[in-house]
Amino acid sequence: MAILELRDLTKRFGETVAVDRFTLSVEKGEFVSLLGPSGCGKTTTLQMIAGFETPSGGTILLNGRDLAKVPARARGLGIVFQTYALFPHMTVEENVGFGLEMRKVPADERRRRIAQTLDLVHLSHLSGRYPRQMSGGQRQRVALARALVIEPELLLLDEPLSNLDAKLREEMQLELRRIQQEAGVTTLLVTHDQSEAMALSDRIAVMQGGRLIQEASPFDAYDRPANGFVSSFLGKSNAIPGHLEGGAAGTKLRCRELTLDGPASGETPGPVLISLRPERIEFTGEAEGIVAGRVSERIFLGDKWLFKVETGLGELLVVRRNSGRREPEVGEAVHLFWQAEHLRVLSAESAE
Ligand code: ATP
Repeated sequence: MAILELRDLTKRFGETVAVDRFTLSVEKGEFVSLLGPSGCGKTTTLQMIAGFETPSGGTILLNGRDLAKVPARARGLGIVFQTYALFPHMTVEENVGFGLEMRKVPADERRRRIAQTLDLVHLSHLSGRYPRQMSGGQRQRVALARALVIEPELLLLDEPLSNLDAKLREEMQLELRRIQQEAGVTTLLVTHDQSEAMALSDRIAVMQGGRLIQEASPFDAYDRPANGFVSSFLGKSNAIPGHLEGGAAGTKLRCRELTLDGPASGETPGPVLISLRPERIEFTGEAEGIVAGRVSERIFLGDKWLFKVETGLGELLVVRRNSGRREPEVGEAVHLFWQAEHLRVLSAESAE
């Protein structure tokens, strides 16, 4: 059952179309991310759902109910902002209990729910502290508890982890996922961070220029990107210009003088973009090599090596786990191999 349904949601600011006929539904208990670069319309979409912006067109349904005439405070949503927006003069307990007090929940029920929610976010021991006496990560948990305590039908998260340093952010990603699952709360996250979206979500909606470009599981969006934009936004990708030749015997994928085995592609014959993830490329012997090249750069990244290999096909990035075997040196002649199924044939226009 869909908790949230956006149908052709549109927002114009003068000449700017910030959100363009955006359609998406979020099922009960699901964690969905709106992912895209700065300015693609993520925040505006969230603001319309929250009721802080009025749509120029389209519909927002929450549990089948049209929200057009429902004011923000009556929508019953839990919201966590990038800045946390905690009340500085209130303790953790008071911050978390605020929404319940507004809703006139009786005091004993309030105490029970505050305790339960603080337990969920592992903050019971700090209930008497003020926000200024807490770390960024702890404040983040308070903000989450405050949003969850009202048992919202939908939790909206706007870049909630972007104020934390890299290590804490990673830790909080896992925590956020645990808390979301334990609470069973339907969640919509806005982020420009692809690794965050992938780590947290059941489904990712990739946006560009106010439009929905692809809606898929993290794995499918990464492995089967709809176009070159999604492919490069979700991680490193080699974009190799090629040509799809049609013929009676089927299509042939050509790249310079090479004919490549590739997966069946729905693209029409003509120029194409071949996308190949760096971790799908292996070094191999001359006999098995699909293309020969020379290592122009190699970078040690701790858990893996990154190589740049010059080939006739364009610059290939190769990421490979350090298997403990000898890694090729800069300047060394190498042969590259990949499984045909890992090539993604995209339309050339989608290269941008
Ligand atoms: P970011 O990650 O930088 O917040 P975003 O994807 O959330 O980006 P939005 O903030 O939704 O993008 O903005 C989408 C577009 O709408 C941008 O071109 C932005 O300049 C424009 N925009 C947003 N709010 C307003 C406003 N109040 N008035 C005019 N234009 C706006």
